[in-house]
Amino acid sequence: MKILVINTGSSSIKYQLFEMEDHTVLAGGMVERIGEASSKITYKVYGENPQKTESNEVITDHKTGLLRVVSLLVDEKLGVIKDKSEVGAIGHRVVHGGEEFVKPAVIDDTVIKAIERNIPLAPLHNPSNIVGITVSREIFPNAKQVAVFDTAFHHTMPEKAYRYALPSDLYERYKIRRYGFHGTSHQFVSEAAASLLNRKLKDLNLITIHLGNGGSITAVKSGASIDTSMGMTPLEGLVMGTRSGDIDPAIPAFLTRNSEATIEDVDRMLNTRSGLKGICGKNDMREILAAADRGDKTSKLAVEMFCYRVKKYIGAYMAVLGRVDSLVFTAGIGEHSAEIRERICEDLEQIGIILDIDKNREKIQGNRELHSARSQVKILLIPTNEELKIALETHLLVSNDNI
Ligand code: AMP
Repeated sequence: MKILVINTGSSSIKYQLFEMEDHTVLAGGMVERIGEASSKITYKVYGENPQKTESNEVITDHKTGLLRVVSLLVDEKLGVIKDKSEVGAIGHRVVHGGEEFVKPAVIDDTVIKAIERNIPLAPLHNPSNIVGITVSREIFPNAKQVAVFDTAFHHTMPEKAYRYALPSDLYERYKIRRYGFHGTSHQFVSEAAASLLNRKLKDLNLITIHLGNGGSITAVKSGASIDTSMGMTPLEGLVMGTRSGDIDPAIPAFLTRNSEATIEDVDRMLNTRSGLKGICGKNDMREILAAADRGDKTSKLAVEMFCYRVKKYIGAYMAVLGRVDSLVFTAGIGEHSAEIRERICEDLEQIGIILDIDKNREKIQGNRELHSARSQVKILLIPTNEELKIALETHLLVSNDNI
């Protein structure tokens, strides 16, 4: 079966078409700047004869964007399928499943209504995800559609970890609690870590560290998330590309009282002008590390704060888990920056974490071990693959559903 995985943003559609027989990607890419004067379409064919095309076109809305993707997938020269009916199912990344979704769901009108009910919890993401679902139902009326939620993996957190110490009626009335995100990634790398270690996931305690433009860290006990750094929204936790992560909750009130800023301004500032960008003006870790090397003080500080926050969470989750078998680094920074991994693991020998500096610096693709033979805690690098995980979950659900 062929499965199309779609991740719809407010002005973008990321897509990958998988062949589920061998879990390979046939084609994938992105439509960006939907609704703007000029949109960009990227289309890549994988396999024996790889090809890549990029074009700038006018794409007025998501439906036009997805139709354009379909026209590329079936194109005589560039296409990888003959007809869109070859797409057996579609997996959608949905950011917020709230308390209603603890696992992926086959999409029907009831599921769409439930995703809509969670819009107040993810006002920037869930509306776009619904647009993606609606247009792909129109374009692929015969394919089953599945929603895979970023929050679902964390539904196993105990109440003491997911509740905020706020008046209880706020939880009951508004569902204000911690949900956690990047669940698909944390789950994918946990499973891959168990295979790499040749152990059963149920016998392992892991700390999975997703460091991309967004960042989060999760304590995984026997394959289940028991705590994670992101909260009701993805703003809580680590220092991220443009998000602050943990701050004193009194700061927004202070700012609205003592500056011209409205609460909307403060919200935007915390999400888009904070984190690494707020500290040094840049959010691409490659540029920040290069500037820090040239002696730029604010870039140095940004790197220090980024690594220090991760280190603090590792300590906290070691205490929470009691015994930790492995740390798992993943996502853009976690996979590619030996320097950041080194700084995070620095001086953790006393708690059993010892990196092998040479292994850490080797430039090898794929899953690998980075710890020294003396390290009690194994340190792994596992490239994440959220799209493949969404395809696998979709496949499982539609197969069980007797498609
Ligand atoms: P992601 O959100 O997982 O795509 O990760 C994006 C982040 O990964 C950006 O901050 C990039 O700067 C960072 N990144 C990618 N490659 C490297 C690298 N070689 N060294 C440091 N950071 C990197």
